[in-house]
Amino acid sequence: MKTLKIAIQKSGRLNEKSVEILKNCGLTFENYKSSLISTVTNFPLEILFLRDDDIPEYVQDGIADLGIVGENVIVEAGADVCYLQKLGFGKCTLKIAVQSTSNITELAQLNGKAIATSYPVILEKYLKANNVDAQIRNISGSVEIGPGLGLSDAIFDIVSTGGTLKSNGLKPFKDVMNSEAVLICNKELEFNAEVRELVQRIQSVLRAKATKYVVLNVSKENLQAVVALLPGVKSPTVVPLFEEGWVAVHSVIAEQDFWEKINSLKAAGAQGIVVMPIEKIIT
Ligand code: ATP
Ligand code: MG
Repeated sequence: MKTLKIAIQKSGRLNEKSVEILKNCGLTFENYKSSLISTVTNFPLEILFLRDDDIPEYVQDGIADLGIVGENVIVEAGADVCYLQKLGFGKCTLKIAVQSTSNITELAQLNGKAIATSYPVILEKYLKANNVDAQIRNISGSVEIGPGLGLSDAIFDIVSTGGTLKSNGLKPFKDVMNSEAVLICNKELEFNAEVRELVQRIQSVLRAKATKYVVLNVSKENLQAVVALLPGVKSPTVVPLFEEGWVAVHSVIAEQDFWEKINSLKAAGAQGIVVMPIEKIIT
C-alpha cells in the first residue's frame, strides 16, 4: 500500500483547523511545531507542513499527493489539481477596494488606473473577463497603503471584516472571489482507494459538525406536530416513556437553523430538550 503525503500549512490561518480536521478523522500523529513532516501511525499517510503558497504546485507535481489550502492560493498559482472537498473554514472574499472619497461606481472607471495587489493572476483574469484595462501593481504585502501613498488608485486584496480597509481610508468596491479551504489531490490520485477513504472520513466529520443530536420528551397528542419539525437521518426515533401517554423523540437537526428549530419544537409541545454534539455521521 502506498503511503500518501498530505501537505498542510505549517503556521498561519489554516494550520489549526487543518490539524483538527485530520485528527477528527481518527488519524493519530504528533503535531510538532518544529518538524516539517509527521507520520500518521494508524493510516498510510505522512503530513508535510509547508508555506501555503507552495502547496498547490507540490500537489500538482506529485511531491505531495494531497493538500489542504485556500482556493484563492490554488487559483493564483494556476495549479492543475483535483478538488475533492470544500472544508468550511478559512472563508474570505477577495475584493477590489477604492479610497473612501473616490467617486468610482462602475468597473469601467478603473480603465487606465493602477491597482495594487498580491494576487495578480486572479485580478488579471477578472479584469480581462470584464474588459477592463488597468495596470496591475504586484506587491507582496500591505497593499492597503498603496492608494494613500499614491502608488495605486485601488487595491485588490483579501477582506474579511473590512476593518483594515476602513483604517486605511478605503471602502470595498467589487467582490471578485469567495474562497475557503479545500482538500485537493494530484490528478492521478482522484480514485485511489486511500484517497477515497480519507475523503469519506472527512465528509462524515463535516456532516457531523453541521448537525446536532436532539432528545426531547413530548406527549402523544403533540407527537405528530413535533415529528413534522424533525427530519432525522432516516426518520426520528420514538421510544415510550415510563409515564403513560409520553414519548422521547431522538433526532438530528442542522446547526444552521438550530435556534429557530428549538423554538418551534418548544412551541409544538416539546419538553426537556437535550442537545448533544455528534462526532461522525457515516451514511
Ligand atoms: P504562509 O506563511 O503559509 O505563506 P500566509 O501569510 O500566506 O501564510 P495566512 O494569512 O495564514 O497566509 O492565510 C492563509 C489563507 O487563509 C489565505 O490564503 C486565505 O485563503 C485564508 N484567509 C481567511 N481569512 C483571511 C484573512 N482575513 N486574511 C488573509 N487570509 C485569509
Ligand atoms: Mg502564503
